[in-house]
Amino acid sequence: MNAITRPFMIANQWSTGEGEPFVSINPADGTESARIGVASKSDVDAAVRAARAAFDHPSWRALKQHQRAAFLYRMADLTAANKEVLARAQTADNGKSMNESRAQAASAADVFRYYGAVCESTESEITPQRGPSVTMTVYEPVGVVAAITPWNSPITIEAQKLAPIIAAGNTVVLKPSEVTSQVALEYARLYIEAGFPEGVVNIITGAGDVGRMLVDRPDIDMISFTGGTKAGQMIAESAGRRLIPVVLELGGKSPNIVFADADLKRAANVVADGIFSGSGQSCIAGSRIFVQREIFDGFLDSLVTASEIHFPQYPENPSAISGAMSSFHHRDLVAAFVDRAKLDGGRVVIGGEILRGGDYDKGAYYPPTIISDVTNQSRIAREEIFGPVAAIIPFVDEADAIAQANDTDFGLAAGVWTSDFAKAWRVGRALRAGTVWINGYKEGSISAPFGGFKRSGIGREKGVAGMRSYMQAKSMYWRIE
Ligand code: NDP
Repeated sequence: MNAITRPFMIANQWSTGEGEPFVSINPADGTESARIGVASKSDVDAAVRAARAAFDHPSWRALKQHQRAAFLYRMADLTAANKEVLARAQTADNGKSMNESRAQAASAADVFRYYGAVCESTESEITPQRGPSVTMTVYEPVGVVAAITPWNSPITIEAQKLAPIIAAGNTVVLKPSEVTSQVALEYARLYIEAGFPEGVVNIITGAGDVGRMLVDRPDIDMISFTGGTKAGQMIAESAGRRLIPVVLELGGKSPNIVFADADLKRAANVVADGIFSGSGQSCIAGSRIFVQREIFDGFLDSLVTASEIHFPQYPENPSAISGAMSSFHHRDLVAAFVDRAKLDGGRVVIGGEILRGGDYDKGAYYPPTIISDVTNQSRIAREEIFGPVAAIIPFVDEADAIAQANDTDFGLAAGVWTSDFAKAWRVGRALRAGTVWINGYKEGSISAPFGGFKRSGIGREKGVAGMRSYMQAKSMYWRIE
């Protein structure tokens, strides 16, 4: 084991904390990849105090937009230059293939660059005069933001969360998932190297109780959380008591709808990618696949063939698309869902068993799994599994597809496959989800706002709207008559 404890960062200073460090396990082979320092209550207090002091300090507060943007451009350059280090940190913690981790690091650099551009080009508004005053609306930072992130894709999620918070002029305390602390600690190093004034970005590590201590602090101004719906509800309650704003990016159970008139070959490949890439550990995974009844059997065959390339491999293999599950514990939860679906009468078309034998015995691997003979009411179609498990369900016509797709507690994303443009528009507009892809799936653009309907969340990240989420509007009346 690597005996050195990785410290967390408060006000550009490193500290291992007073508590017992915890060990991060590499799920690809079960080895111990790092020891991580655990923040105590006094560390959480110190981080929030540092963020508050930085928010009030002219070295940050008085910066003009283009000066603040310069920090984000430096982060973009540093993220690109450290692509390999970030990718290795993520793969060591959550078992993602190196190919995917590298691609995410490249896209994270673009995220910092995009928010640098948004930061320096955002304008205030002069609104139509209706009385004796000129009216203007200016947008100001909210203050100290507590940010909490999950384990599935920390390279991209931590860039998408912190870049707009910073661009808006706030200061931040980030608590990453205990499963994937190493990416955040690599970012911490880059924030220092980029020359951020002390206290603007603080990164503390530990488990969920550190996150709870952070979000319960009375003197934070906003909470931005990405994670499961249960934790999101607890955080919203805590924020509600203090009436502070939240951005909540939560879970999903997204429908991918294939009509008989679609380009079925392309649809099969992209629908398989939509659920099986990243071993299904994605909030937008298309885990409910609805297929028009007359093409159901043929499409299922194509989907089985298209799923083959997603069979998990050791993450460092040059050809690996999908790697390990994020942890042994999570792999077992996914397996339990599938076992339960079998008992409920589901038919396992492919996959359905923990991978064992050879190198698979050392790590946490689960294969692409398709379950048929289930309805949209079955547990496998209602609860988020967050693994490579798809329920495939037939539908009769457009109205039936929309009704089944919308019959869910979640509303994060959806896909529609058809060659009929008018139908694509009708169905896309009828779906209750924050993102809808037509003849595609899982494509991500940093300029398009992202977030959930229903229990998939509150607020939006990404795009200009993503920066505005961390600002408050102030209207100024300037009497001229
Ligand atoms: P969790 O909700 O379990 O945890 C998310 C983060 O919150 C972790 O850092 C966790 O710490 C922390 N945490 C847990 N409980 C609390 C609490 N009461 N107060 C403060 N912090 C808390 O989610 P997972 O990490 O398991 O991630 C998977 C979930 O994230 C899925 O539901 C997925 O859909 C969702 N997700 C949503 C995305 C979106 O953009 N909508 C994107 C990616 C994932 P620790 O882990 O250290 O205990």
